[in-house]
Amino acid sequence: MSEVFDVVVIGAGPGGYVAAIRAAQLGLKTACIDKRNTLGGTCLNVGCMPSKALLHASELYEEAGHGFEKFGITVKGLSVDIKAMMASKDKTVGELTGGIEFLFKKNKITWIKGVASFTGRHALEVKLNDGSKQTVKAKNFIIATGSDVVSLPGIEIDEKIVVSSTGALSLTKVPAKMVVIGGGVIGLEMGSVWRRLGSEVTVIEFLDQLLPGMDGEVRKTFGRTMKKQGMTLKLSSKVTGVKTTKNGAKITYEPVKGGDAITIDADIVLMSVGRRPYTDNLGLDKTGVELDNRGRVKIDSDFSTSAAGIWAIGDVVEGPMLAHKAEDEGIACAENIAGLTGYVNHDVIPGVVYTMPEVAGVGKTEEDLQDAGIAYSVGKFPFTANSRAKANMNTEGFVKILADKVSDRILGVHIIGADAGNMIAQAATAMEFGASAEDIALTCHAHPTESEAMKEAALAVHGRTIHM
Ligand code: FAD
Repeated sequence: MSEVFDVVVIGAGPGGYVAAIRAAQLGLKTACIDKRNTLGGTCLNVGCMPSKALLHASELYEEAGHGFEKFGITVKGLSVDIKAMMASKDKTVGELTGGIEFLFKKNKITWIKGVASFTGRHALEVKLNDGSKQTVKAKNFIIATGSDVVSLPGIEIDEKIVVSSTGALSLTKVPAKMVVIGGGVIGLEMGSVWRRLGSEVTVIEFLDQLLPGMDGEVRKTFGRTMKKQGMTLKLSSKVTGVKTTKNGAKITYEPVKGGDAITIDADIVLMSVGRRPYTDNLGLDKTGVELDNRGRVKIDSDFSTSAAGIWAIGDVVEGPMLAHKAEDEGIACAENIAGLTGYVNHDVIPGVVYTMPEVAGVGKTEEDLQDAGIAYSVGKFPFTANSRAKANMNTEGFVKILADKVSDRILGVHIIGADAGNMIAQAATAMEFGASAEDIALTCHAHPTESEAMKEAALAVHGRTIHM
């Protein structure tokens, strides 16, 4: 008789591999299946980590080229070697995916390389990457198959001229002109990388501001900053077609409100209009697992699906498509399978854009609060008045705290600033503890740090900033 696992996870992204580790820690006999030959899913292979490696490298290049002089440092003969930069990024990815392999061995998780498809509620058929087939049985399955890139109707991603983020992470030379379709996080991060390396970047966005879903004031400031850095923004504009030519593409767009079509040329077009939950060829029709109207696996708050013994987490279920959200869901789901009480507070999931300056937010935006009719107070503090930001000559942006008008409980925190991604953790912790703005204001913050701007913004909620 073939072996029956306690838990089989389909997908080894941050949701799946973390769920597998937690399940194994809890003493469950665990396997994890992924069609890639390396672990870590989208995040480690073609997402968060390679993009951050290139963001860091390109930021260093830009700083050396334009940011050092103000500190009295002169750089002569600066140049960039794209091949070496890509090799360094690939090395980072290799080390990180190898790290997960080590963790799988340490936790005695069976790693199965192949494409999994349900044959019923209790079994999968896996087409192994070596060409053979294997039946895998388990008491519990976790669907952690993640997401895939989407395109606009009639526009084909060929990963040569019209690329997804995956192609944009591996270009072999700096394109003279790049058009980014979609002004969301991925488009802006990858657009920033190539602009810093020398591309002329145009972003075409349907909405009237970049970064849909983030705080309105932050979005406006961010748009101004991107323009100042040399990006061309075409907001409230709709792409109607992309025609590839011998060496590039012609992109046609028109104002959303109506008006004449405009055509521009690009060497590379980055399609970054979003991602869709990925359940292709998974055989869900044989399981009774239901999907919602957006193709996401429907789950309860404990991550169970409509089919007993089948669970789902990460990008393939509702909520923001973020690695840390997937990880936390993986832990909670494994704990629920083991009979514990795993829980994720979806009201406190931070989101970060790793441009320079960074953008970070957690909780409600002002627009959310206005729509919900919740009375709130705002405390804002600019980095121009923060001593560390001044010393670093990185004074762009601000911290904004939204607190309940009556109870002072923090409802949302939004930051645009050099260190926003690290700073938002403090806000998330405070919100998990149900902190008030006054709690942050009363907390001693080390001097000189950018995080003092958080304390000052908390003081600003009650109109008593010290340094402004
Ligand atoms: P995934 O990471 O997508 O993993 C799913 C895995 O399932 C894949 O490896 C896939 O091969 C496998 N799979 C699917 N179907 C099958 C099958 N039938 N059989 C076997 N295997 C299968 N998020 C952040 O939080 N921070 C960031 O900075 C960030 N940057 C990003 C940058 C880019 C360019 C991109 C594309 C994404 C970024 N994300 C970021 C999003 C993040 O990568 C995802 O939210 C995260 O990877 C989701 O994790 P997951 O485990 O749900 O799925």
